[in-house]
Amino acid sequence: MPYTCKAYSATSATSPLSSATISRREPGPTDVQIDILYCGVCHSDLHFARNEWHFTQYPAVPGHEIVGKVKSVGSAVKKFKVGDTVGVGCFVDSCRTCPECLKGLEQYCPTMTMTYGSMDAHLNAPTLGGYSAGIVVTEEFVLRMPANLNLAAAAPLLCAGITTYSPMRHWKVGPGQKVGIVGLGGLGHMGVKFARAFGAHVVLFTTSPGKTADALRLGAHEVVISKDAAAMAKHANSFDFILDTVAATHDLNAYFELLKRDGNLTLVGAPGEPLPVAAFPLIFRRRSLSGSLVGGLPETQEMLDFCGKHGITSDIELIKMDQINEAYERMLKSDVKYRFVIDMGSLR
Ligand code: NAP
Ligand code: ZN
Ligand code: ZN
Repeated sequence: MPYTCKAYSATSATSPLSSATISRREPGPTDVQIDILYCGVCHSDLHFARNEWHFTQYPAVPGHEIVGKVKSVGSAVKKFKVGDTVGVGCFVDSCRTCPECLKGLEQYCPTMTMTYGSMDAHLNAPTLGGYSAGIVVTEEFVLRMPANLNLAAAAPLLCAGITTYSPMRHWKVGPGQKVGIVGLGGLGHMGVKFARAFGAHVVLFTTSPGKTADALRLGAHEVVISKDAAAMAKHANSFDFILDTVAATHDLNAYFELLKRDGNLTLVGAPGEPLPVAAFPLIFRRRSLSGSLVGGLPETQEMLDFCGKHGITSDIELIKMDQINEAYERMLKSDVKYRFVIDMGSLR
């Protein structure tokens, strides 16, 4: 029998999020039942709640930066016990047999189940995310949180963390490289921290001059105001790698011009509308444009352990559940320092 728990949901693209009661499946033999303590607020939650990606089904419960305590475990669960501190990120299941799954790249599985916005095979209804008191997840998709990290500040690692860590590992960001991060929001500030931790020379591009001091404190060596064409031109042909985390439509071509020969720009920002790409800045100097989606389970655990070892967490503003609509409005104004995290105790 499914059980019910408290949550916050959007009932349409234009309605604010509000209190709701949702169903969760009864934990099966391989399931972990989790009491959610904290859930980070990703810009994807906002895109999804407002149907900016055109696939949202309502009522919609966002949230995929989940940290909690294990409340119960199924009879066959081996990795976890009651009371363990665990994390759940952007997906909760996959086929486990395709080439992507076998390589630990579950995020690219054609039938991967997203934490919210997929079909839940157990309940035959859309999956519902972490803006809720609890969740049930099969043990393979549950992650172990490092014991030394502040749990609220570690929640954003489950999406903002892995989404910036994974492409930088893939493109082998390291010492001797010049790396650009575009946008200082939730993803961007984690990108700055990781690029610095990997030993690169880090340049932060921002539209918000007021974020300069914070960017330097977070680990950037230089800050460029992207609206200043002369400041941008000074960096022409000099970057090995640029990670673009911008949530809105913007000019990618200006960044291609900053890449060296064979430099790469990876887009992780996911605006709802297409971004125009000019051919010439890519053709000359053989530059490339890529995308990247979060990270697989093994790499997410590797990233969490790396953060535990190096003491890396997000800079967060802790909010109560009923402040979520205000937080969304501030996110749209680029007024996030640098991730909102919901104290889920406020929902109980
Ligand atoms: P966020 O906290 O709102 O940060 C986005 C930042 O982009 C803003 O703080 C701002 O930084 C910059 N920005 C906003 N509007 C802009 C504009 N019109 N022109 C230029 N810059 C602008 O968002 P987030 O949670 O980091 O998410 C960022 C994007 O990544 C979203 O689209 C989200 O859906 C996507 N995402 C993708 C993945 C993936 O797997 N690929 C995972 C998670 C999130 P400045 O003030 O510094 O300019
Ligand atoms: Zn996210
Ligand atoms: Zn698969």
